[in-house]
Amino acid sequence: MTIDYFECSACGTVFSAEAPLYVCPRCNGNLDCHLDFERPERHFDPHQILNDPRGSIWRYERLLPVGAPPFQATPLHQVGCTPVYQPERLAKTLGMSRLWVKDESRNPSASFKDRASAVVIARALETGIGTIVAASTGNAGAATACMAASVGLPAIILAPRSAPPAKVAQLLAFGAQVFLVEGTYDEAFDLSIQASDAFGWYNRNTGYNPFTVEGKKTAAFEIWEQLISTGKVNPAEITIYIPVGDGNIISGIAKGFKDLLRLGWIDQLPRLAGVQAEGSAAIARAFAARTDQILPVQAQTIADSISVDLPRDGSRALKSVRESGGFFVTVTDEEILHAIPELGSSGLFVEPAAAAAWAGLRRALQDGLQDPAAPVLVLCTGSGLKDVRAVSAAVAPAPVIAPTISALEAAIHE
Ligand SMILES: *Cc1c(COP(=O)(O)O)cnc(C)c1O
Ligand SMILES: [Zn+2]
Repeated sequence: MTIDYFECSACGTVFSAEAPLYVCPRCNGNLDCHLDFERPERHFDPHQILNDPRGSIWRYERLLPVGAPPFQATPLHQVGCTPVYQPERLAKTLGMSRLWVKDESRNPSASFKDRASAVVIARALETGIGTIVAASTGNAGAATACMAASVGLPAIILAPRSAPPAKVAQLLAFGAQVFLVEGTYDEAFDLSIQASDAFGWYNRNTGYNPFTVEGKKTAAFEIWEQLISTGKVNPAEITIYIPVGDGNIISGIAKGFKDLLRLGWIDQLPRLAGVQAEGSAAIARAFAARTDQILPVQAQTIADSISVDLPRDGSRALKSVRESGGFFVTVTDEEILHAIPELGSSGLFVEPAAAAAWAGLRRALQDGLQDPAAPVLVLCTGSGLKDVRAVSAAVAPAPVIAPTISALEAAIHE
């Protein structure tokens, strides 16, 4: 469908959907796309969605502000519908009985970011804008490059020079024009905005383009479809652990559940738990200080995907978590690294930012913020293949042995 209007999440000003806007022209706040489900022609029945044959985010087309791109067999049409697992042995070690993890590494470019990029690319196709630009620590760029490549649109990606090599390799393999910026993610972000203004490119930046949240909300629809609509879980009971950098994923998931509430398909919002790295915790700090003011930090964490000085969607993230009755926790790099082989022991291979969500659950259990008897879902946002260097730091190196049975035997007993 098309959006009815934009509404500023900060000052509440309403803007016409025709205006090609990024953030609020008045206060720079993040814009919400408003879809009016009260209109009679938009009275949907959940079964219209549950029975949709498409195994991707496009099964939720009725609830999205863009039309599904005409079907072709491309990665753009294979985003989302990621599996949820029940890691039983891990749950037992934590004294939990209803624990799910959602594996976002199964997306085409191996991270959650494909959800946002797919919707932004669909929007670009609808509006006829040619070139897409994105600033990214890696995953948003890889997702943009992947989705753009799948429909033949040119993509320009600005990444900090420190981006993990696997992510940069992905960008280049997808054929994006890649520029490594001598500076931080935040500096690449500002540069990309200057560039889209100067050259007329479509800017996909997280916390800047209002359509990213609309893509990210599809994860809430899936959690509803996989756990709530099946009666496995009551939305009032479950807590969802989400790693937070800019705060756009958690804002998107909150938006999805709010859409479901407006549709009357759930009667209460699930609790959202935002997890930040201790060295990149601008939003968690504001939450702990009970203030709306988010002060920038000098971010430093091994989890590059959530390493952010000034969160670009921080206010909306803070509001979303408060509205859900949830909370923020912070985790150290040590806890993040520890979580990688722990999740690995259940067959899940995650990058540090995804491991942070798991570490956040552990922290919340320790701090008494999480009832172990209540249902929990941990959002595992990206694949361990994205940052092999960091994963290697989390595990002991394998011993090298001579190709003989005696050497193997000696090594086994060591
Ligand atoms: C981007 C990203 C996050 C954080 O999302 P924000 O919207 O910046 O809060 C978490 N994990 C992974 C793997 C990501 O790529
Ligand atoms: Zn505003």
